[in-house]
Amino acid sequence: MMKLIEKAERLLQDLYGYPTFRNGQEQMITQILEGQPSLGIMPTGGGKSLCYQIPALLLDGITLVISPLISLMKDQVDALNQLGIPATYLNSTVDYYEMEQRMREIYSGKIKLVYLAPERLEMESFAQMLQKIPVSLVTVDEAHCISQWGHDFRPSYLSIGTMIQQLPNAPIVSALTATATAQVRQDIQDILQIPVENTVLTSFQRSNLRFSVLHDQDKISFIESYLKRYPKQSGIIYCSTRKEVDALYQHLGECGFSVGRYHAGMTEGQRAQSQEAFSYDRLSVIVATNAFGMGINKHNVRYVLHYNLPKNIENYYQEAGRAGRDGEESECILLYQGQDVRTQRFLIDQSEMNDERKKLESSKLHAMYQYCFTQSCLQNTIIQYFDDPVEEPCGKCHNCLAQMETSLQDFTEEAQKLFSCIRRMKERFGLSMIAKVLKGSKSKRVLDLSFNRLPTYGILRDYTEKEIQLLALTLQAEGYIKTYSSATSSLPLIKLTEKAVQVLKGELNVYLRPLRDSAKPEWQQLRT
Ligand code: ADP
Ligand code: ZN
Repeated sequence: MMKLIEKAERLLQDLYGYPTFRNGQEQMITQILEGQPSLGIMPTGGGKSLCYQIPALLLDGITLVISPLISLMKDQVDALNQLGIPATYLNSTVDYYEMEQRMREIYSGKIKLVYLAPERLEMESFAQMLQKIPVSLVTVDEAHCISQWGHDFRPSYLSIGTMIQQLPNAPIVSALTATATAQVRQDIQDILQIPVENTVLTSFQRSNLRFSVLHDQDKISFIESYLKRYPKQSGIIYCSTRKEVDALYQHLGECGFSVGRYHAGMTEGQRAQSQEAFSYDRLSVIVATNAFGMGINKHNVRYVLHYNLPKNIENYYQEAGRAGRDGEESECILLYQGQDVRTQRFLIDQSEMNDERKKLESSKLHAMYQYCFTQSCLQNTIIQYFDDPVEEPCGKCHNCLAQMETSLQDFTEEAQKLFSCIRRMKERFGLSMIAKVLKGSKSKRVLDLSFNRLPTYGILRDYTEKEIQLLALTLQAEGYIKTYSSATSSLPLIKLTEKAVQVLKGELNVYLRPLRDSAKPEWQQLRT
C-alpha cells in the first residue's frame, strides 16, 4: 500500500503541479496524517496553505479552516474549486439562502474544506451543526491571533479551543502562522494543546531579500528616482495613512508612473480593481496602507518600499516579505524619519488599549526603532526578534554592505563620556537632555538642574546635539544602553546595561561605523 506521504507527494505533483515539497511542508503534512496535533511557523509565502489542503484531501472527513481573513476566503475557495477540490466558506458576506445551500452541501458530504471566520464559532446554531458533520482536521490559520501577546489578537480565537473539545470525533488540530515570537508560540501550543516537539519551524531567513534603512531622505525624490531606475518591475509602497497614500499616488501618477492605490477608504470595487490590475501586471506600482496584502498572491514583486515606519517588526516583516516570493533577488527599503516614531507613539498613547497592552505595543515599536539604528545585519536583527537562531550575516543588506565598505572606528572614548554622563545624571533622563548636557547647552532646564556643574558637562562639545543623539541611538541599538519608562516622565529614560559598564571599566572597546553616510547632507558625519 502506498504510504500516506507518498500519496501526498503525488497530489502535490499531479494536482498542484509542483515537483517537491518546500521546507517544512513535508514534516507538517506527515505529522497531520499521523494524527498528531501540529504547529507550523513558516514565513509569508512559505507555502502554508498546502500544509492543510493536502491532508484535507487525504483524510476521510471534513477539514475546517479558521481564518480571520474574510476577504481572502473567496479567493482561496475559488482557487481550490478550480483545481476541482470541493471547498466552500461561511462568513458574514454570505446571505441566508446561500448559507442554507452551503450547509446542505456540507451535510451531504460533498465538501472537503470549509473556511470559517472565528466569530462563527460563537454562534449556537453553528456549534450544533458541527456536532452533525464528520470533522477530521481543524486548521487554525493566522494562529498568532490566539495570543494576547501577538500583534493581532482576536478574542473570538479563544473559543476555538472549546469548539474543538466539543467536536464529537476528536479531530486532528493544526495551526499555522508566519509570525510568532517565543511567547506567542507557547500560547498557541498551550491553548490548542500542541506538543512542543510537534512544532515545525522553517527558517525565517529570506535570503533573496536585501534590506535597507535609509535615514532622512527626501522621500518623494528618492521614490521617483527609484521607480525610474526600475520602471518595468512590480513594487509596493506602503504608507501609514490613507491620506499619504492618496497624495503619493496622485504625485506619482502625475509624474507618469504606472501606479495604483489601495486602502480601506476605497470602495470594495475600487480595491478589487487595483488589486487585480497589480496582480496581472497592468500596474507596476501600488501605493497602499497595510490593508493591502492580506492574501495578495503575487510572486514577482521586486521591491517593497516603506514610506513610513511600521508599528512593529511583525508588520514590517510581513509587508516587506511580500517581495520576492518567487525566490528572485528583491529589495526592501524602509525610509526612516523621526517624526514617524512620534506619530506611532502618539497613536499608542491615544488608543483605547489598557496600560499593559500599551506597554507591550511601545516595546514592539521600540524594537522597530532599534532596527532603524542598528549597525548589525538587518536580516539577522529581524530573525533574532523572532527568537529564531541566527546564522551568518546576510552579506547583502545595507548594514552588511556598509560593514564591508567602511572601516570601523574606535568610539570607545566618546562612548565612555556618554555613559559616565548618563550615570552622573543618575540614569533619570531621556535622550535629548543627555545630549544637551554633553554638548554644554545653556538651556534653562540644564541650568535649573545644575547640570552645568557636572564634570561631564560639555565634554562632547565638539559634536552637535544631533550627533550626540545619533551616537546614543546607535549605542542603544547595539545594546550598550537601554530605555525604560517611569511614572515621573512621559519620555523614555535611559540607563546603562552591563555592556556599558564594561566599557566604563575599560574592559570593552566600542567600534562603530562612521555614524552618517556621506549621502546624507543634513546630518554631517561624526568627526573622528
Ligand atoms: P503562505 O500561506 O505561507 O503565505 P501560500 O500557501 O500562499 O503561502 O503559498 C505561497 C505560494 O507558494 C503559492 O503560490 C503556492 O502555490 C506556492 N507553493 C506552495 N508550496 C509549493 C511547493 N512545494 N513548490 C512550489 N510552490 C509552492
Ligand atoms: Zn545583512
